[in-house]
Amino acid sequence: MLELLVAATGAFDVETATRAYLDTLQGPARAKSDAYFEGGYWLLLWGTLVGVLVDWLLLRFRIASAIRGFAERVSKRAWIVTAITAFAYTLIGSIVTLPWTIYTGYVREKRYDLLDQDFGAWAGEQAIGLAMALVLVPLVVAAIYAVIRRAPRSWWLWGTGVIGLFMLVGMVLGPVFIAPLFNEYTELEAGPLRDRIEAVAAKHDIPAEHIYVFDQSKQNKRISANVSGLGPTIRISLNDNLLERTGEDEILAVMGHEMGHYKLNHIWWIVGIMLGLFALGLFVTSRVAPVLIRRFGERWGVREVGDPASLPVLAICLGLWMLAMTPAQNSLIRWAESEADAFGLDAAREPDGFAKVAMRLSEYRKIEPGALEEMLFFDHPSGATRVRMAMQWKADNLADPQMVVPDEGYLESE
Ligand SMILES: [Zn+2]
Repeated sequence: MLELLVAATGAFDVETATRAYLDTLQGPARAKSDAYFEGGYWLLLWGTLVGVLVDWLLLRFRIASAIRGFAERVSKRAWIVTAITAFAYTLIGSIVTLPWTIYTGYVREKRYDLLDQDFGAWAGEQAIGLAMALVLVPLVVAAIYAVIRRAPRSWWLWGTGVIGLFMLVGMVLGPVFIAPLFNEYTELEAGPLRDRIEAVAAKHDIPAEHIYVFDQSKQNKRISANVSGLGPTIRISLNDNLLERTGEDEILAVMGHEMGHYKLNHIWWIVGIMLGLFALGLFVTSRVAPVLIRRFGERWGVREVGDPASLPVLAICLGLWMLAMTPAQNSLIRWAESEADAFGLDAAREPDGFAKVAMRLSEYRKIEPGALEEMLFFDHPSGATRVRMAMQWKADNLADPQMVVPDEGYLESE
């Protein structure tokens, strides 16, 4: 990675320095990045519509009520009937939407050169995900319907509690039992890089034994890192792509960002956002679903909301709600991400490393969206926003900031 240091003529200008970075992504590379990300907006809409269509078919052809009828012949216990119905619902839904899953998760990713697995390996991971869903969805659904039957008016509130409980348990256990099913997690190797990361971590009281590396290169080339777990299992993980493909300044900048999530307790913020959206969504569902069932229930073979055959009705209501809430959800999460960015710039003091990494994320995220577009569709600040923030940090925090013009080819370098 070559860099050309340009001696600042006069004062360091934030906009000029930002533009120098943004201009390193041009032509076909920028068009490809925009096309991939903008396509995602439509996938969001179509994905919800595919789900709604499948749910509607399950109602229209009385498949949901047939499944519940079968379950009632297996057991007299309401929770077992619900769990069997939810199991079959999940299985049938996954099979019917398989072409959509293959297109969005495999074909399209391959087309944009963002997936390095062959079909067998990819499908194997999908199968693990389905197996987990077939265990978890019946449990969650059985718990929610138990609440619906006991509290027909206020079940949305108790249902949110049920979801929250499963979410918390899943977050504590996730890094220990789920993540290793897909990737191998190892300690970050000793050496100068680890020393530098530990030095930053120590300054913020983050135990360095909580830093892991995982082998995401077996799935794709994307560089990423994350904070996962809760309580005793909380940890920062960075992937091998970040280690292999970027420079030490970039790795440190990313780790600063993740330390921000860790120190600022963003996991709780995310849990709060999600539960708030679920609470509102279940409330709306608890008011709309009975109206739909009164109107169409006889035709669908659905008796009432507490009848597990109503599962597709609840799924339609909640699915449309979550789609409508996407901009709010994105903006609330983006706010936390922006906080982590600010923390990371202060902690790592690598504004140019941060700017370079922000540019690299253009592999899968549009670099320079309009303001409204960023508000609606971005759950992280855009590359342009991040580069500008880094350059502003430089102007505010360095005694003699110099403009760095990254070498043209650095975005393609491995
Ligand atoms: Zn983040």
